[in-house]
Amino acid sequence: MRIASFDVDHLRLKSGLYVSRKDLVGSEVVTTFDLRMKRPYREDVMDTGSIHALEHICAAYMRNDPLWGDKIIYFGPMGCRTGFYLVVAGDLESEDILPLVERTFDFAGDFEGEIPGATPLECGYCVDMDLEGAKADATLYYNLLISAKKENFNYPKKRQRKSAPKSDKA
Ligand SMILES: [Zn+2]
Repeated sequence: MRIASFDVDHLRLKSGLYVSRKDLVGSEVVTTFDLRMKRPYREDVMDTGSIHALEHICAAYMRNDPLWGDKIIYFGPMGCRTGFYLVVAGDLESEDILPLVERTFDFAGDFEGEIPGATPLECGYCVDMDLEGAKADATLYYNLLISAKKENFNYPKKRQRKSAPKSDKA
C-alpha cells in the first residue's frame, strides 16, 4: 500500500480528482479523495448555498449507488470551499472512483425537486441552499471530469529540498 502524505503545492494545483491519503483502519485500507472543483487562487470558490446543496444531493446519490453505496464512508465539503472530500473503503485510485463521481455530478447538474435532507429536523442550517448555483458548479466539474487529463488526477508535489528526508516513499 502506498501511504500518500503528499506535500501538495496548492499554487500549482488544477481542478481534478485526487487521492489525498490512504489509511489503514484495522486490516482495511481507506482511501480519501479530494474532489477539487475549483482551482485554488485562480477561480472563485463556491458559495456556501451551492456547496451545501451539493453536499446533500451528492451524498444521498453516492450512498444509494448500487455499486459503491456500501463503501462510501464520508462525503463532505472542504472548508476552503474549493471542493469535497470523499472517503471510500478500499485501496483505490482516481480511475477506480471516476465513474461514480462522474455519475454523481451528472445527476447533480440536472437535479430537480426537493433537496434530500433539507429540513430543520435533518440539517443544521437548511435555509442556506442554492440549487441553481449547485447545478452550475456540478456541471462545470462534470465537464472537467469527462475531458480530464493525467494532470487532473496527479497532485503536483512541492520541490523537495535536497536535505529533506524522503519520508513519502513506501
Ligand atoms: Zn445540511
